[in-house]
Amino acid sequence: MNSIYGITMQELEMYFTSKNEGKYKATQVFEWLYKKRVESFDDMKNISKKTKEDLKNDFSIEPLEIITIKKDVDVSKYLFKLSDNQKIEAVLMYHDYGNSLCISTQVGCNMGCHFCESGRLKKVRNLDTSEMVRQILMVEKHEKIRISHIVLMGIGEPFDNYDNVISFIDIINTPKGIDIGSRHITVSTSGIIPKIEQFMNYEKQVNLAISLHAPNNKIRSSIMEINKAYKIEELIKVIKKYIEKTNRRVTFEYIMLKDVNDSIECALELSNLLKGINCYVNLIPYNETSHIQYKKSSKEQILKFYDVLKKNNINVTIRREFGSKVNAACGQLRANYEEE
Ligand code: SAH
Ligand code: SF4
Repeated sequence: MNSIYGITMQELEMYFTSKNEGKYKATQVFEWLYKKRVESFDDMKNISKKTKEDLKNDFSIEPLEIITIKKDVDVSKYLFKLSDNQKIEAVLMYHDYGNSLCISTQVGCNMGCHFCESGRLKKVRNLDTSEMVRQILMVEKHEKIRISHIVLMGIGEPFDNYDNVISFIDIINTPKGIDIGSRHITVSTSGIIPKIEQFMNYEKQVNLAISLHAPNNKIRSSIMEINKAYKIEELIKVIKKYIEKTNRRVTFEYIMLKDVNDSIECALELSNLLKGINCYVNLIPYNETSHIQYKKSSKEQILKFYDVLKKNNINVTIRREFGSKVNAACGQLRANYEEE
C-alpha cells in the first residue's frame, strides 16, 4: 500500500475528485499531516468518518524506524530501517543560519565513485517519495525542532531516482506541507547530463550542486566512473546552459584528496575551467574511511588550493568539517553499522 507521505497535494486532490469529494479535503489532510503532525487517520478531527475509512483503506501512515542516533556537538546522524529491512541515513547539521538535514535518496549507489562508501555498497533500490519525506518528519519529531534547509547529499544519486525526488521536493515545498522554501533545497549530482537537462526545465528555484572533484578528465575518470560516460567538457557545457536558462548560480563540490586532486596545478586548471561561470566552489575536506585508501589533504594544502582559486577570482569556500567523529560522510554510518 502507498504511504500517504509520498502523495503530492495535486495527487491527493485528484484522489478526492475521483471520489466525487471536494478538493479542499486534500488541504485538510496535508495540514493534519504536516502542520499538526498527527500520526493516524483517526486523529484527523474535521475529516468525516467515511473519508477516514477510505484513507485507511488506500494509504498507510507508518513512520520510519530509527535504529541508532550518533551525536556530536554540531551534528546528529540518524540510521533508519525501512520496511524491507534496508538501512539508510540522514544527517542533521546545526548552522548559525538554521538546521539543515542531509537526506538519502537511494539504498546504496551505482555511480561507483572510488572514494565513497555509498558507491562501495552498490544500489539496492530507489527510495520511494515517502521514505524521503519521512526522514525529515522523524528527525523533526525526535529533536523537537524545525528543519530549515534540505540537502540531497546522503546515500544515493538523486538524478538516478529523478521522479521520486521531484515529488519529494513538491511535497516539502508546498506551503500547506512542510513548507521548506525552494531556495533552501539543494540537489547534488555526480553529473548525469540528461537529467541536468531535464532539471533546467523544472519550475521550482531549487539549488543545484555538482560533484566535480577534478579539473580534467584524466583525474576525474580515475576517481569517478560516471566521467567515463559524461566527460568533463560536456558537463561544463550543460552547466553553462543550465545557468543561462535558470539564472541560478551553481555550486561545484570538490573533495580534497591527498596527492590526487589537490596540487597547485590542479587549482590553476580548475580556475581556468570555471572562469566566467556564475558558480562557487566548495572545497570539502575528505572524510577518511577505513575501507577506502584515499587520504585527506592537509589543512595547509587546502589553504594553498583555496588561495589560488581566490587569486583567480573564483568564489570559493572551505566546508566546515562536520562530525568526523560520527562518520558523517555519505554512507559511512551505515557501512560501519553493517560491520558491528
Ligand atoms: N550522489 C550525489 C549526492 C550524494 S554524495 C553526488 O555525488 O553528488 C554527496 C557528496 O558527498 C558528494 O559531493 C560526494 O562526492 C561527497 N562524499 C562522498 N564520500 C565522501 C567522503 N568520504 N568525504 C567527504 N565527502 C564525501
Ligand atoms: Fe554515488 Fe554520490 Fe557516492 Fe558517487 S559520491 S558513489 S554519486 S553517492
